[in-house]
Amino acid sequence: MKAKDIAELLDEPACEHNTKSKSGCAKPKPGASAGGCAFDGAQIALLPIADVAHIVHGPIACAGSSWDNRGTRSSGPELYRIGMTTDLTEQDVIMGRGEKRLFHSIKQAIEDYNPPAVFVYNTCVPALIGDDFEAVCREVEQRYDVPVVPIDAAGFYGTKNLGNRIAGDSMVKHVIGTKEPEPVPENAQREGVKVHDVNLIGEYNIAGEFWYVLPLLDELGIRVLCTLSGDARFHEVQTMHRAEVNMMVCSKAMLNVARKLQDTFGMPWFEGSFYGITDTSEALRGFAQFLNDPDLTARTEGLIEREEVRIRAALDKWRPRLEGKRVLLYTGGVKSWSVISALQDLGMKVVATGTKKSTEEDKARIRELMGDDTMMIDDGNPKELLRIVKDYKADILIAGGRNMYTALKARVPFLDINQEREFGYAGYDGMLELVRQLTLTLESPVWQSARTPAPWDAAIESNGVALALPMTSSAEGV
Ligand code: SF4
Repeated sequence: MKAKDIAELLDEPACEHNTKSKSGCAKPKPGASAGGCAFDGAQIALLPIADVAHIVHGPIACAGSSWDNRGTRSSGPELYRIGMTTDLTEQDVIMGRGEKRLFHSIKQAIEDYNPPAVFVYNTCVPALIGDDFEAVCREVEQRYDVPVVPIDAAGFYGTKNLGNRIAGDSMVKHVIGTKEPEPVPENAQREGVKVHDVNLIGEYNIAGEFWYVLPLLDELGIRVLCTLSGDARFHEVQTMHRAEVNMMVCSKAMLNVARKLQDTFGMPWFEGSFYGITDTSEALRGFAQFLNDPDLTARTEGLIEREEVRIRAALDKWRPRLEGKRVLLYTGGVKSWSVISALQDLGMKVVATGTKKSTEEDKARIRELMGDDTMMIDDGNPKELLRIVKDYKADILIAGGRNMYTALKARVPFLDINQEREFGYAGYDGMLELVRQLTLTLESPVWQSARTPAPWDAAIESNGVALALPMTSSAEGV
């Protein structure tokens, strides 16, 4: 990829860094790939396209870097879960065999799995030695008549976020607009209901959570042409250009796709979230508003009223066990505000929230929800997180999986909110799952017993010697 192409992606006009603050998106820095390289970002953005063969062109360690690390689910094909790599070695580099290996890897994937398309991810080593991987992709595509999509996202180009944009850009350049959508099947049509086509961008179907939302859209007559990329199929991505509106789901990562579809096809987009009752209702209203169909608006309001009454009645059973509990929320980006609203719906108090990957717009929303004196945590190292837990008397830490051991060491109840989690929290029914998991965590005998001094500690304490570590001391050892 040329430097000017990278600069173009970083200067995404729809990004608020380039509109409001004019600071520009973060440029790649040495060591920036520590939080995930560009290849990592590109692969996690596209791997959920379930029927595609995803081949990583590079040393085997690159493939391990991002393979299947997001708990995204497919309702059908499982091909995406087969880790494919050209497994380049020193000998291949010395002997100049990279392109040949790539050719045979793509051929093998096509012959063994007959996929509708192959995605090839470029990584640092072949980019540095100058393999013309795009030419190889073109050659195999012509020879076997299967789309082979090059994704030029070598790790050293920049950060994970840049990789997300490269992934989106590759879809716009090579895939979107190459096929027309199927007509709506007759058995899916209802008398007097106009079917509208939409896309969701940045929805990854973590733990299958989008399946809580899809039935609601079906009921309203909203057909999802494609979710880029949770539980997606290649042919769905091809038809994205025919949607009437795009929703950016909890993520600015592929903002360039929404902007380019707007520029090219005049397709409006809006940002929304399916976390929490309020935000789910707002997202449904967002569709109705952009689709500008009075009948749809009326039916949406009816559905929202029915679902809110149903879910609030179901939540009332759990509310007394959660109401007033204090939460330290440490997650990134849009989730920093969308989850606050979900927790507030439950009567919980968020004492502080992480804002490391949040934009200025995200922070403004946090202030709107929590007030001006909100504690925002930019650098949540373990010691700082535990200090906040102690000072603000948090009952639970809700954060990404990597903070689990911090919580364990400090004996603080912990709930995983990031992509590795096992449970889906989107939509109205996702709220019920979130409540169940929060209650189970807070009342778990594991945490209860972890917070009680061990019998031998109690015995030693009664002899006047305290062995149990106070929270701050254990934090220092983390
Ligand atoms: S693409 Fe480069 S930075 Fe990323 S995992 Fe491979 S070698 Fe490391």
